[in-house]
Formats: sequence, structure tokens, C-alpha cells
Amino acid sequence: MNLMRSALLWASQNAWLREQAPRHKFVRRTVSRFMPGEGVDDAMQAARSLAAQNIRTIFTQLGENITSALEAEQVRDHYLGVLAQIRESALPAEISVKLTQLGLDLGEDLCYRNLAPLIERAALNSGVTTLWIDMEGSAYTQRTLDLFTRARREYANAGVCVQAYLYRTKEDLERLISLGAAVRLVKGAYKEPPAVAFPRKQDVDANYFALAQRLLSADARQHGVRSALATHDRALIARMAQFAEQNGVPRTALEFQMLYGIQSAEQLRLAREGYDSRVLIAYGPHWYAWFMRRLAERPANLWFVIKNFF
Ligand SMILES: Cc1cc2nc3c(=O)[nH]c(=O)nc-3n(C[C@H](O)[C@H](O)[C@H](O)COP(=O)(O)OP(=O)(O)OC[C@H]3O[C@@H](n4cnc5c(N)ncnc54)[C@H](O)[C@@H]3O)c2cc1C
Repeated sequence: MNLMRSALLWASQNAWLREQAPRHKFVRRTVSRFMPGEGVDDAMQAARSLAAQNIRTIFTQLGENITSALEAEQVRDHYLGVLAQIRESALPAEISVKLTQLGLDLGEDLCYRNLAPLIERAALNSGVTTLWIDMEGSAYTQRTLDLFTRARREYANAGVCVQAYLYRTKEDLERLISLGAAVRLVKGAYKEPPAVAFPRKQDVDANYFALAQRLLSADARQHGVRSALATHDRALIARMAQFAEQNGVPRTALEFQMLYGIQSAEQLRLAREGYDSRVLIAYGPHWYAWFMRRLAERPANLWFVIKNFF
């Protein structure tokens, strides 16, 4: 793993830095490149502008590894309010949650009790109403997939993220396809050892393309799979679009997801050309670890931090 990426991912877990960084204005200025604001209203406002350009959105309140049951309930209640707001404003938006934000570290049943009402509530909104579950570090992969499978038995509208850098994902994907699940495919954002994840970027990219081909296959589509290809990698997007075209997947059924503020021109281009283009908008005060992962994905982003310092 690239040294800088490694250092930034290490810093994302450092408690002292997490405490210090948000105190500095130049850091907060850089963060604003990746999120429209800390409040949910800022996210809603940005979603309205994107909707006018035919781009749908996914909201996520930043935060992970909460340590009390009360906090997990507060997160659940927050999201119930957001789902109601989405319905009232008729925004083409979904939400995405982290299970450790809903209490996974405190127990699977407790977490599920917070998750289930969100999936139920999401189903009441009009249009496509998947409740997305993010994928966190590999210590959580199995538990996340177990809770997802439990939810999928009860609800049709739960979706889960899988990471192309993990060796295990090829097999996990087969199980998800047999369930006809909604699957978001990403490369993976955490610091993982070579025992569980491909250390070389080119292998991650190759695995991503192989997994995407499987998701777009006629067999997966017959199972009712919803594939969300979440990447900013334009070369990969072009290859997947070509593969889809050759395999009779209509553009409207080819879904690309990106993060707010990254490759915005590409998000627009995809929407204009008739693809299903979606943007994940993050908000909330607990942005430190998430922001550091964004820096690690592209260490050149450190220049923005430095520029904002001066
Ligand atoms: C909608 C969505 C949901 C996600 N959910 C999860 C999740 O649940 N779990 C998880 O582990 N990961 C998640 N990720 C993050 C993902 O794993 C990758 O870390 C991230 O998308 C960067 O990889 P890439 O596919 O864009 O490819 P890369 O090869 O990393 O990047 C391709 C190009 O995109 C641009 N780019 C990429 N990242 C940045 C950045 N931060 N700043 C500026 N430019 C950038 C650069 O031009 C780069 O050359 C999510 C990503 C998206 C888009």
C-alpha cells in the first residue's frame, strides 16, 4: 500500500488528531469541498440543485462506532426524520447508514432494532426506496452481511455495499446475487492487511471490473439484482458502460454513484447521456475520519488543505 495512503488512513483512526483537526478553519474550508455543509438542510439544498440536473441523491450522516445505545437511537430517529423530509419534499433521494452508527459494536440485535424501522420507513417513500448499508472495515464484513441477510428476509428494499479490494467479495457477491439484492460495488476505503485485501491498486481495479461484469450479467439481472457501480474512475466507468451496451443493459438501468464534489462533470455527463447518475451527500459534524479517508484516496487532495492554510 502506498505510504501516504497508509499514513492518512492511520491518521483517520487517531483520537488526538480527530480532536484537533476540526478546530482549524483551513481544515474546515477544505472539508467544504466534499460536503455542502454540516446540516441536513445543506444536504437537502444541494440535492435539489442536483435533481434539477437529473441527478438523484443518497444522504448519509457522518459518524461511526458510537458507544451508547442512546446515541444509536438518536441516529435512528434522525434518519426517520430525514426519510420523512425526503417524502414531504418529493426529492429523488435515498439514505445510506453505517451499522456501527446504529450500535453494531453494542450487539447485533440492538443494531437490528435500530435498522429495521429505517428500512420499513424508506419503503413508504415514492420511487426507488432502497435503504443502503455501507460497508466498514473488514472486522465488520461478516456481521454486516449477516444483518443485511436478516433484513433482506423481511424487507425487499434493503441494499448493501461490497468492496472490490477484499478477496472474499467474489463469493459474497454470489450469495447476494442469489438473494436478488441491491448491491453497491466500491473499491474499498479502509486500511486492510494483505491477508484479506489486494495490496496492489491494479488488482483492486481488475477485481472491480470482474465483479461489475458479474453484477451486470443476464443471470444477475434475472435474479432482480440492482447494481450500483460506485466509483469516480472514468476509465473503469467507460469499460463498464461498454460492457453493458454489449450485453443489452439499457442506459437507464446502468446506475453510477459518486461522492458529492468529486468528478462533478462526469456525474453531469452521465445524467445527460441517459445513465442513472447518483451522488452521495455526506453531512454532520463528525466528518473527521470520513474526510481523512477522502484524502487517502487521492493524496493530491492534501494540496487543497495546504492551499486553504494560506
Ligand atoms: C457512492 C459511494 C459510496 C461509497 N461507500 C463506501 C462504503 O460503504 N465502504 C467503503 O469502504 N467505501 C465506500 N466508498 C469509497 C470507495 O471505496 C473508494 O474509496 C472511493 O470511491 C475512491 O475510489 P474510486 O473507485 O473512485 O477509484 P480511485 O482509483 O481511487 O479514483 C479514481 C479517480 O477518481 C478521483 N478520485 C477518487 N477519490 C477521490 C477523492 N477522494 N478526491 C478527489 N478525487 C478523487 C481521482 O481523479 C482518481 O484518479 C464509496 C464511494 C462512493 C462513490
